Amino acid sequence: MARQKPAYTRVLLKLSGEALLGKQSYGIDFERAQAIAQEIKEVHDLGIQVAIMIGGGNIFRGIRGIASGLDRAAADQMGLLATVINGIALQEALEKVGLFCRHVSAIEIKALAEPFIRRRIIRHLEKDRIVVFSAGIGSPYFTTDTAAALRALEIRAQVIMKATKVDGVFSADPMLDKTAKKFPTIHYIDVIKKGLKVMDSTAISLCKDNSLPILVFNLNRRGNIKKAVLGEKVGTLVY
Ligand code: UDP
Repeated sequence: MARQKPAYTRVLLKLSGEALLGKQSYGIDFERAQAIAQEIKEVHDLGIQVAIMIGGGNIFRGIRGIASGLDRAAADQMGLLATVINGIALQEALEKVGLFCRHVSAIEIKALAEPFIRRRIIRHLEKDRIVVFSAGIGSPYFTTDTAAALRALEIRAQVIMKATKVDGVFSADPMLDKTAKKFPTIHYIDVIKKGLKVMDSTAISLCKDNSLPILVFNLNRRGNIKKAVLGEKVGTLVY
């Protein structure tokens, strides 16, 4: 049987920190990280260049610090460091399944990760290395979704693959409303107008202004990342 041709050659996968939770309510489940790494390997084996933006919500989100009275900038810096911890874990998991990986942090932390140098990142991808981005864009008041959009544009990824816990973008929260309908495709403007929770509005606007598609899909269904890059009907395409 002829091998299916991938729909993309370079993708940016956005993994929230929660993706690493597995069955835990806090922190990193290394078995889960390894399982995700294995799926990424299957995609990489198709010849697709993969960069990943990792979030930090499994450890710390700025909003939690603000609720406890911390200054927003300080709380966000703590959130940024949480993403770096996840970046280290993910790099380990990817290397354990036999991939070469570079961890790139947007805040300078030389002993742990490389700095962001756009041309160097592109070279890593061309040399078949997986690039894990951590520390978002390195500044408070942003999210790793916005950082994912920015880096995807900078490295000329053809799509952001936004991994979630549900099957795509729905008319309402499918966990709460059983009548919620899934959209196979949806325009950026409708996401904004309807206030659908896909990514934060800064991230959506950046994608919209630069015509960068976002594929929202369920990471908890095994094989979904591969199906999505092969152009099979998975999730919702925001374009
Ligand atoms: N953060 C930040 N600037 C960025 C990206 C992230 O200050 O460019 C902080 C912010 O506090 C955020 C935390 O890092 O709450 C973790 O990122 P995010 O909430 O996006 O992680 P996810 O929800 O994807 O796990």
